Amino acid sequence: MLITEAALRARVTALGAEIAHDYRELRPVLVAVLRGAFVFMADLARAIPIEIETDFIGVSSYGSGTRSSGHVRITSDLERVIGGRHVLLVEDIVDTGLTLAYLRRALEARHPASLKICTLLDKRARREVEVALDYVGFPVEDVYVVGYGFDYDGLYRNLPHVAALEDV
Ligand code: 5GP
Repeated sequence: MLITEAALRARVTALGAEIAHDYRELRPVLVAVLRGAFVFMADLARAIPIEIETDFIGVSSYGSGTRSSGHVRITSDLERVIGGRHVLLVEDIVDTGLTLAYLRRALEARHPASLKICTLLDKRARREVEVALDYVGFPVEDVYVVGYGFDYDGLYRNLPHVAALEDV
């Protein structure tokens, strides 16, 4: 057990309030990075008491296993046109930073009015490229996490808490 359900709920509520304050009047588009961020997105969106829109972008960075290949690919694109919009990218975890660095470049090329990043977890120790994070849920050590949207080989996404997977 790394982060309990109660701790997740409290932190997500606080993040939601902070985001609502920063984006009041701006009608931001929250973009969840699939698939890992779908659970966080569902809770975060409900913790933001202002008008927001939601969209999803699918990327593949990890194959079967726990090591980053360094290759990032958009597997399903946004539905919305984000030019001129205030976009908040909702990520599950920033590890090497390669996925976010790639996504940031790809989305900035579409000229949003602003582009900020919210990540539930920040695994700082493994960073290979710097990416500025605007909202962070929790810092985590260099462990492989599962649960609350995080999988190992497709499993454990439905756990209500975040756990560290041992012996991989
Ligand atoms: P990065 O490109 O920053 O190295 O990796 C980002 C992606 O790798 C995350 O969105 C997530 O899908 C995956 N990832 C990184 N660390 C973990 C981890 O500890 N557990 C799981 N399940 N996925 C991880």
